[in-house]
Order: sequence, then structure tokens, then C-alpha cells
Amino acid sequence: MTGARRKICDVAVIGAGMAGMAAALFAAERGLSCIQVGNGGGILYASGLLDFLGVHPIAERRLWRSPYQALPALAREEPLHPLARVDAPSIRAAFASFVAALDAAGLAYAHLGEENRRVLTSIGTVKTTYGVPRTMIAGAEALLARSPCLLVDFRGLREFSASQIVATLGDRWPGLRHRRIEFPGYEAVPELYAAHLARALETADTRARTIALVKPLLGDARAVGFPAVLGLKRSGEVHAAFEAGLGVPVFEIPTMPTSVPGLRLLGALEAAVSARGVRRRHQATVRALAFDGDGGTATLDLNGVPGGERVSARAVVMATGRFMGRGLTADRGQVRESILGMPVHQPASREAWHQHEFFDPSGHAVNRAGLEIDDAWRPLNAAGKPAWARLFAVGSILAYQDWMRSKCGSGLAIATAWAAIGQVVRELNGSAAS
Ligand SMILES: Cc1cc2nc3c(=O)[nH]c(=O)nc-3n(C[C@H](O)[C@H](O)[C@H](O)COP(=O)(O)OP(=O)(O)OC[C@H]3O[C@@H](n4cnc5c(N)ncnc54)[C@H](O)[C@@H]3O)c2cc1C
Repeated sequence: MTGARRKICDVAVIGAGMAGMAAALFAAERGLSCIQVGNGGGILYASGLLDFLGVHPIAERRLWRSPYQALPALAREEPLHPLARVDAPSIRAAFASFVAALDAAGLAYAHLGEENRRVLTSIGTVKTTYGVPRTMIAGAEALLARSPCLLVDFRGLREFSASQIVATLGDRWPGLRHRRIEFPGYEAVPELYAAHLARALETADTRARTIALVKPLLGDARAVGFPAVLGLKRSGEVHAAFEAGLGVPVFEIPTMPTSVPGLRLLGALEAAVSARGVRRRHQATVRALAFDGDGGTATLDLNGVPGGERVSARAVVMATGRFMGRGLTADRGQVRESILGMPVHQPASREAWHQHEFFDPSGHAVNRAGLEIDDAWRPLNAAGKPAWARLFAVGSILAYQDWMRSKCGSGLAIATAWAAIGQVVRELNGSAAS
């Protein structure tokens, strides 16, 4: 790669999904210079809800009221699960730091306590999660109290149906009602998109007209739920205007992916890491990664930067995700790690990847494939030793976890990023002192 620009940093983060964002954020907060490579990963598809640990054991589908109480059981029964390697005080600190950064970027979350919360989904099921955006929290409270509640949707918005939610939940929540209204200004538009409505509601006039349509429908409702379209970049302001205008708590319910809350989360994380000086290469990918001796530097060659770019880093955090993020790829025979070809923990043969039944409660073994690590979050080579002294791995690329079934996607990303960045700091400080 002759002629490519050369950049130097303390830590290069490969990946900009939830784990890569958390790693870049924590690295910058610890005073490390950081270059981050990769696009938004799964964040765009996320609901804005930050899962921590909802289900354990997976096969029993046991739901936990407190993720912190679930942790000791996880550590006892699945000691290799990455979340079991992080202590509770570190997880508290990681979440606090993460949501404070989101808050400062304009995306506020309700107070994080010791317990999970239960929230409505767009199909009327109930989801166990941990971090709930402030615009959604009144829904968790209304669901808990089963108080009289009005759900409103908009004609033409296909990704959300209030009547379906009421049909699914109504027998367990008798005071739940729904009404459909026209979205002001879009009466002649056959099909509506959530992101367009969210942007439209950032104008005061559209807000006022929407509130005026809903107010006469309130009846005995003590809370009103909407699809998650209450603003894109200024959701706090739009949500507050709806509560003031309607005089009752208002909440959003995430729509199907890609959803407005996913867009908000991605926007807020991009703003948060940029504000902390992280140099983002969001159109780029790492084409090659090489190491210069054990205590030396890593060299990353990037694609997708005009003219090419070469990054020299004292440490590297790999947050490249699984199959969707492309951190892992699978051919007919086996699962591979895509940048360095590091060994991947996986079932012995392809026949063992999946159960016969797709909905088998114990999940599929291939969904626990990933990198094995040592106690310092360093991926292991074929000899079972750290592949390189300053290569760390975080998030869903790690082995021994099925984040989708455990409902631990964001918690896994945030907690492992926190712990690994702690190791990066120790490693780099140690080398500076020696
Ligand atoms: C549909 C859906 C819904 C979800 N809903 C929720 C939810 O409600 N609550 C929750 O907590 N979590 C949710 N999640 C999970 C969460 O958003 C994360 O996807 C998950 O935690 C995995 O994050 P990750 O950062 O490990 O990997 P990914 O999100 O997969 O990110 C991988 C990153 O690596 C980058 N990358 C890969 N290879 C390279 C390379 N060679 N060079 C540079 N970059 C590279 C990709 O560009 C990407 O940025 C959801 C995910 C999906 C897909």
C-alpha cells in the first residue's frame, strides 16, 4: 500500500456496532487516542432498548427480574460466558458511563437501577430489557399497572399496528384501547415511513395538529402510546411537547427494524465518540492487520478511504461481530474469523451447527461460535496462547454466548468493552512505565 496516508493512535477499534462504539467511547474517556473503523453494524436494527441479561438458562427460558441476580447463576453454570467474566460493579460503571454519554448527545435513558423492565413490542408481545429510553418508559409503567391506556397509530404506517397490540394483549389488559388517526399533512399519502413522520413531528405545527387530533380520544386513558416516531434528533423535546399537550404520560413503542430508535441510537453514539475525539472511518474496512513483534505496533491497512490509509496502533480492539457484522464467515465446512483467520470455537462438524427444530428452546450451537479469549480479553491462537499481546476482542464475536436468546446484546457489548479497555489501559501504561 505505497502512498497511503499513515495515521498513528493508541488504540484502533475495528467495528462500529454496539461493542465497537462502546470500546471507542471508553477508550477516549480513558484518555487514549483512538481510530475507529467500520459502519454502524447491528445498531440500525436495534430497538433502542439496552438488553443486559434477560434469560438464563436459555433452554428453560427463565426470565430474570434482576440481571444482577442472574449474573451469579450465569457465572456458576456458564463460567466461560463473556458476561460471567465481568464483575457487577464494572458492569454498573460501564452502563452508567454509556448512558451518560448518550444523554449528553441528546438521547436520554430512564434511570438504570438493579432490575430489568418489561416493555411492549410492536406485535403485542412483552420484552424483558434493561435500559429504556425516556420516551418509552411510561409504557413500562403502564404495562406494570395495567392502567387504562390509549394506543394511537397512523393510517398508512405499515410497520406498526395498535389494533394488533390490543388484540394480543387485550384479555390481560382490559383498559387497553386503540385508535387510528390520519397523520397531519400526509392525508393523501398512501404509505407512510416512520423516519419521515419522526422528522415531521420536529416541527411545532405538525406536533400541535397531532396533539389536537389525539386529545378528544383520551377518555379515561392515564397514558398514551404511539409508534416510535416522536422526533428523530430531538426526541426529548417532541416527547415533552406531547406530554404537555395531552396532559398524561406519553410513551413510544419501537416499530419493526430498521426503526427510528435505532437511527437515534446510532446518531447519538456517532456524536458521542466524535465529541470525544475518536477519529471515525465509518466508510472503511480493515483489509489487513499485522503485528510488529509482541511489544511493537499493529499496522492496519484500510479499504474505503480515498487513496488508502495505513494506521499504526499500540493496541487493537476487535469488535467485528458475528455473521451479520462479518467478523465471522462460514463456508460449507467451518466458521472462520475474517481478518486474521484466528481459530474459532465451533461445533465439531457442520451437522452439529443447528438443532432439527428451528425454535428449539436450547438454541443452535453455531450461535455460540466465536473467539476464545484469555483472562485479559485477548483472542487465543491455535496453541491456546494470546494471538498478540495487545490484540483484544469484545462483543458478539466472543464465544460461549447466544446474545439473542439470552437477551444480552447491549450488555455483552458494553460490559466486555469496558473490561477490555481497562486491560488496554493497563497494558499501555505498563509498557510506558517499563
Ligand atoms: C435486528 C436486531 C435487533 C436488535 N435489537 C436489540 C435490542 O433490542 N436490544 C439490544 O440490547 N440489542 C439489540 N441488538 C443487538 C445489538 O445491537 C448488537 O447488534 C449486538 O450487541 C452485536 O454487536 P457487535 O458490536 O458485537 O457486532 P455488530 O453490530 O455486528 O458490529 C460489527 C461491526 O464490525 C464491523 N466490521 C466487521 N468486519 C470489519 C472489517 N474487516 N473492517 C472494519 N469493520 C469491520 C462492521 O462494520 C460493524 O461495524 C439487535 C441486533 C439486531 C441485529
